[in-house]
Amino acid sequence: MMPKEMLGNYFKSHEKELVDYVLKILAEVVKEKTVNVEKERLHEFPYLKIAGQESLVSKIVMRELKAMNVDCQEKTLVEGRSNVLGFYGKGDSSLLVAAHMDVVPPGDGWSRDPFTTHVDKEKGLVYGRGVIDNKGPLVATLCALKVLNELKIKLNGTFIMGAIASEEYREQGEEDPGLDFLIKSKSLNPKWAIIPDVGGNMQMIDVAEKGRLQIKITSTGKQAHGSTPQKGINAVTMMSRLLLELENMQMQYVPHNFLDRPTLNIGTIRGGSASNIVPAKCEAVLDIRYLPSQSAEGILKEIKGVADRLSVSGNYDFEVVAVSLPHEVDSANILVKTIQENAQSILGTTPRPFGLGGGTFAKSFNLSGIVAVGYGPGDDTAFHIADEYIEIKQLLSFAHMITAVAMDLLGYQK
Ligand SMILES: [Zn+2]
Repeated sequence: MMPKEMLGNYFKSHEKELVDYVLKILAEVVKEKTVNVEKERLHEFPYLKIAGQESLVSKIVMRELKAMNVDCQEKTLVEGRSNVLGFYGKGDSSLLVAAHMDVVPPGDGWSRDPFTTHVDKEKGLVYGRGVIDNKGPLVATLCALKVLNELKIKLNGTFIMGAIASEEYREQGEEDPGLDFLIKSKSLNPKWAIIPDVGGNMQMIDVAEKGRLQIKITSTGKQAHGSTPQKGINAVTMMSRLLLELENMQMQYVPHNFLDRPTLNIGTIRGGSASNIVPAKCEAVLDIRYLPSQSAEGILKEIKGVADRLSVSGNYDFEVVAVSLPHEVDSANILVKTIQENAQSILGTTPRPFGLGGGTFAKSFNLSGIVAVGYGPGDDTAFHIADEYIEIKQLLSFAHMITAVAMDLLGYQK
């Protein structure tokens, strides 16, 4: 029998055992409260010693990899926030599947304890904080390694599992103890990567992500007594006029196959100190999601152009607060093709390429020259909600998919 046929048969004949394994480990990792929040909110979560505290989960991942005799390393930049890398097989080419271990806070509205997994057998779903984002896919990757190991499949390359810290939140200016640290320290340099952090029920492949540009605008007018507004220049009104124009601004761009049009959100505004003072200062911060055909400089110029066309007596100043670049992967590349072919034979459908307005780990990889796509199990609507859920069957299908993709991409001894 061909190894890939063997693989399919194994997933079928050992379904119950594999489901039990996935649910058992998932219950364990969900129980660890790896909530990642702002430092100033830590006191709201008495169980948090530090934000994320991902080592609670990395410990479990290490234990499982060691039990399978898979080479593994714990990589730590910040105490208590370790990453784990597991390496199955040997060879020059490598495929990484990386999931993050931190979760967002539970929030309100849960029917049960968010940190205790609950299985609804009839619906075939498992509930709990992180079951889709991103602990379910993490455990599915362990399951894939378990199957590779039990079938003693000899890959001609390396299947790498990444359990990564710190994806959901980062303090401004804080060094990333997760993926950036692993890439910069050259601990992680795979040829290809699959990031199961997009939802889409394995029907979509994230091949492009928009860039994100944050711009702070400051309007400066002239302070005066509130009873004589004509003697001042109102910075709040100045800002309002500009923002209303920006809302209708048409940015220059070339339409993209997988990304919809660029967007501009006016996220925050702050100005004025009392109702009886004409405000001299007002600040607003924009969040612009832009396409590969645009640039931060170009957009800034367009925004300044809008401001220049307004006839106001005060000044506008513009500051770029943060930029992350857009990226795109050739949708005909071998990683995408291999996922599509295997999905056709395992799931009976061909996932289609699409693009995201937000960013995943795939962006960091692509920007450092590693071909990475987003692809994974679960509904995109289940992320960050109360009663977060995922279909159990999909966790197994995902394990099957990445095992098969690794065999095709890396090659194996027949
Ligand atoms: Zn996530």
